[in-house]
Amino acid sequence: MAVEGGALEVPVVWDADCLLHRPAGEVWLGERIDGTEVPERATVILQKLTEAGARVVPPAVHDEAALLAVHDRELVEHLATVWADWEASGFPADFGRDRVVPYVFPTAAMLAGLPCRLPTATHAQVGRYCYDTMTLVGPGSWEAIRAAAGCARTAAELITADAAVAYALCRPPGHHAGPTGYGGSCYLNNAAVAAQALRHAGAERIAVVDIDAHHGNGTQAIFYGRPDVYYGSVHVDPGAGWFPHYMGFADERGNGAGIDANRNVPLAPGSGDDAWLDAVGLLCDDVRAFGVEAIVLSLGVDAAAADPESPLQVTADGYRAAGELIGSLGPVAAIQEGGYDLDSLGDYVLAALAGVAAGRAAASS
Ligand SMILES: [Zn+2]
Repeated sequence: MAVEGGALEVPVVWDADCLLHRPAGEVWLGERIDGTEVPERATVILQKLTEAGARVVPPAVHDEAALLAVHDRELVEHLATVWADWEASGFPADFGRDRVVPYVFPTAAMLAGLPCRLPTATHAQVGRYCYDTMTLVGPGSWEAIRAAAGCARTAAELITADAAVAYALCRPPGHHAGPTGYGGSCYLNNAAVAAQALRHAGAERIAVVDIDAHHGNGTQAIFYGRPDVYYGSVHVDPGAGWFPHYMGFADERGNGAGIDANRNVPLAPGSGDDAWLDAVGLLCDDVRAFGVEAIVLSLGVDAAAADPESPLQVTADGYRAAGELIGSLGPVAAIQEGGYDLDSLGDYVLAALAGVAAGRAAASS
């Protein structure tokens, strides 16, 4: 895809450690199946963006404070250590269990009002943090999880340092990871790390606009009670039977001081550019009314017509148009979320970023 006006003027923050996470499938309805969140996702995006002339930037070195600003320490420590504990427990060598997967979940129904203890057994601890069976951990996972969050934070820092647009090629994605738990192929919430970094650098109000095909339940949970970070998402209707099933409904509007700083626009399966862009426009109206200094874009491109993970039917031109709308709002740190069709993934990301850059340039001229 040609980029109007020459090379793509968006720095791409990338860390090759993001390739080290190899979940090697997912457990779906009791069966281990091939997963779609594969390292090749990142390599095809990187190739497409560099072909378009984008500059690749390494992430800065960060300490874990950026992670602890949006996640409980227990979750971060679990992710950092669980693979080593799993190995030490003998699961890979003795039982052929080559990835960490939970088997018991301390749901409200199980606890029946009692506090959630930390169980002794590693394999029992996993379900305290991981809320589904699709989000496996293996050797190299933590290095990639940490690298992805670092890329997001660096994109935010580029915005703070006056870049109009920056993009973090994060893998694994992040928007399903909440303050205390992970799932949905996400471990730490890269977009939330970026939003918090922008706040930390002095921005008073931030918006996270999430155009991934699925509701970003983790991002919503992190900011649900906060008046300083707006979260808006367009996604396939969870009420029509789509992940994350339990949240992402239109009546979730925030709580406490965060009332009206949360907006969900669920769309019917099969929705295409018209309905989707109307929803993006509605989120942009919200952001304008909210008044922000910067935008974090959760850029999932799994709303693409060819994507295997969602029933939405959005075109690359639709993504470009959405990018223009969002770029007109202010500086944008775009964070890679989902997108699983390896043949079209790169084109969609390029279209979206070219749109954001064009929208930003038009608004600044
Ligand atoms: Zn998604």
